[in-house]
Amino acid sequence: MTSTAAADVLKPDFAARRKHFIFNDEHEALRESIRNFATKELAPHAEEWEETTFPNWVFPRMGELGFLGLDKPEQYGGQGGDYYSALVLAEEIGWARSGGLAMGIAVHTDMAMPPILKFGTEEQKQEWLVPAIKGQKILCLGITEPDAGSDVSGIKTRAVRDEGSGEYVINGSKTYITNGHRADVIVLVTKTDPDAGYDGFTLFLVPMDLPGVIREKKLEKLGMHASDTALLAFQDVRVPDSAVLGQVGKGFYHIMWELQGERLIGAAGCVSGAQRCFEMTLKYAMERKAFGREIGHFQVIRHKFAEMATKIETARQMVYMTAWRFQNGEYPVREISMAKLYASRIAVEVADECIQIHGGAGYMKEYGVERVWRDMRLNRIGAGTDEIMLDVIGRSYGL
Ligand SMILES: Cc1cc2nc3c(=O)[nH]c(=O)nc-3n(C[C@H](O)[C@H](O)[C@H](O)COP(=O)(O)OP(=O)(O)OC[C@H]3O[C@@H](n4cnc5c(N)ncnc54)[C@H](O)[C@@H]3O)c2cc1C
Repeated sequence: MTSTAAADVLKPDFAARRKHFIFNDEHEALRESIRNFATKELAPHAEEWEETTFPNWVFPRMGELGFLGLDKPEQYGGQGGDYYSALVLAEEIGWARSGGLAMGIAVHTDMAMPPILKFGTEEQKQEWLVPAIKGQKILCLGITEPDAGSDVSGIKTRAVRDEGSGEYVINGSKTYITNGHRADVIVLVTKTDPDAGYDGFTLFLVPMDLPGVIREKKLEKLGMHASDTALLAFQDVRVPDSAVLGQVGKGFYHIMWELQGERLIGAAGCVSGAQRCFEMTLKYAMERKAFGREIGHFQVIRHKFAEMATKIETARQMVYMTAWRFQNGEYPVREISMAKLYASRIAVEVADECIQIHGGAGYMKEYGVERVWRDMRLNRIGAGTDEIMLDVIGRSYGL
């Protein structure tokens, strides 16, 4: 038997970069440029925007940099990238240190934009998608109502066709609408035929400056303070046939499709938010001393980090693997629901544990971890609650 030369001894290199197989060098270059932008141009304003909400100039600036249409076709001004490039944005925008901003951008790029691209007519794409990718028009999405959130089929907003004028007349209200105060147009879910069950829903593209669209009030929230959240009313709002998005009567299925992308992007944001919080806390635990040593060297604290890192890595793999399925043409609703459920839960758990590791400092605004917790808490509710995710997963087994 030959003895192993010292150079052949395998030692773990924990500092080595772990590039995932779904990403190539272009994704990594994109990652770096979004991170640079977010760190230099957005993060310095993070505290201010918690008070004022983030300003609209962020949209045209990101449009100019090509970040609002990363996975959208070049013919509409997008970058023509794959789905993974959208994941990169969801992950790296976290460096803006503003959950509210990340959510406002994601609603624009990954919630309101995809239905316009998938179901819109060429005219609708030219009118809304092209300027939205440039950041010149801002989008929002209206599903939730005061009396119906999880139960989308329970919405009451009605769109009735006025045969005389050939227009639709819309009445109803929507609540918790992100970007609702700043948006130029809303992708609106309505009921067009209350007797037709799931086949009685229709989506509309409703310009927000039409008579009868009322932006009622800015809602105050636990977290995500940099985003604006609106209660909206629609009173005899008249839109032409050309405002119908997709097929009349198929809006429920259209919006269920939209929710899948929204959930996966949300899950990616949770993983990166948890990772950043972990890193901030690791640094703190290496510096803060108690009983004569850095707190990170207590076994109890070390194990907290080990638990958190394992959960984050598990969630990350679920998101990446599900994204791979999505990119390769599958419609993995079960896996998306699992990734959304798990990533949202662990992000809140991690942020909570990070507050604990910071001790009293964790409760202070100055350190930023309490904000991560408040911002992350939304993800167990928005885009479908934990309970709804569990129900989707359970039902997928025929239960
Ligand atoms: C900050 C913020 C931003 C948002 N942005 C938007 C937006 O831009 N556009 C938009 O349309 N919506 C938006 N939402 C709405 C969000 O998607 C809903 O709040 C969410 O879907 C839950 O609906 P709900 O609030 O009506 O809760 P409810 O549906 O009233 O649920 C209340 C509780 O009952 C549980 N529950 C309900 N049904 C079941 C069931 N079948 N089985 C078990 N438990 C159940 C829920 O899980 C929850 O715990 C936003 C919400 C927030 C807070």
